[in-house]
Amino acid sequence: MLFIGIFLFGAIVGSFLNVCIHRLPSQESVVFPASHCPHCREPIRPYDNIPLLSYVLLRGRCRSCGAAISSRYPAVELLSGLAAVATVGALGVSAHALLAFAFLCALIVITFIDFDHQIIPDAISLPGIGVGFAAALIHGDPSWTASLAGILLGGGLLWGVAEGYHWLTGREGMGGGDIKLLAMIGAFLGWRAVPVTLMIASLAGTAIGIGLMLIQRRDSRTAIPFGPFLAVGAACALFWGDALITWYLGLARPA
Ligand SMILES: [Zn+2]
Repeated sequence: MLFIGIFLFGAIVGSFLNVCIHRLPSQESVVFPASHCPHCREPIRPYDNIPLLSYVLLRGRCRSCGAAISSRYPAVELLSGLAAVATVGALGVSAHALLAFAFLCALIVITFIDFDHQIIPDAISLPGIGVGFAAALIHGDPSWTASLAGILLGGGLLWGVAEGYHWLTGREGMGGGDIKLLAMIGAFLGWRAVPVTLMIASLAGTAIGIGLMLIQRRDSRTAIPFGPFLAVGAACALFWGDALITWYLGLARPA
């Protein structure tokens, strides 16, 4: 019963995240005007704006004009609902769980905006660095020193990679947005999560990149946004970071 409530809370937050994903890149207000159909501009009625349920009841179509509604909307709501359940499952009903959920929400918004526009808005990553550090100061997990080290390591590592790549190839590979995102991840999760995040993101990014090249015969220069992979890596580090570090160190040690 608790988890159904938590899931619904997450899904409702998810419908707000949809608005952020849609409006933040064009600097529109996320509060006004009310949501409207992107096809016919008709405002969406409150009873058609119930997370997940409305999409199913309307069979994925606008009530006024019948245009198909992107399946991304219910997907984001589902993802947010699951994120809320996962954080409470891992951390209990606590301030820490709420903070972790907010962190995952920021990662969800960043992922979809980066997919669409190949940018990571400073409007999320820069305040995120501050919030992550402030939370560490208050909460102490990670400690504020680990959080500060995470900001420096996260920002510094990718900055070094970006500079090195630019120096070697003369091309811009890594965006500044990725650098600020990894600094934000370090702020929330502490410096130990930075290599874990980066390793998972690189492995997943390489696998998907090779897959895409094989399927679409894409030029290897075709930019694949790295933000979504960093977000997946950070979510893994949040839930399984300590276990992953223990496992990895165990591999390095002779049996
Ligand atoms: Zn419509």
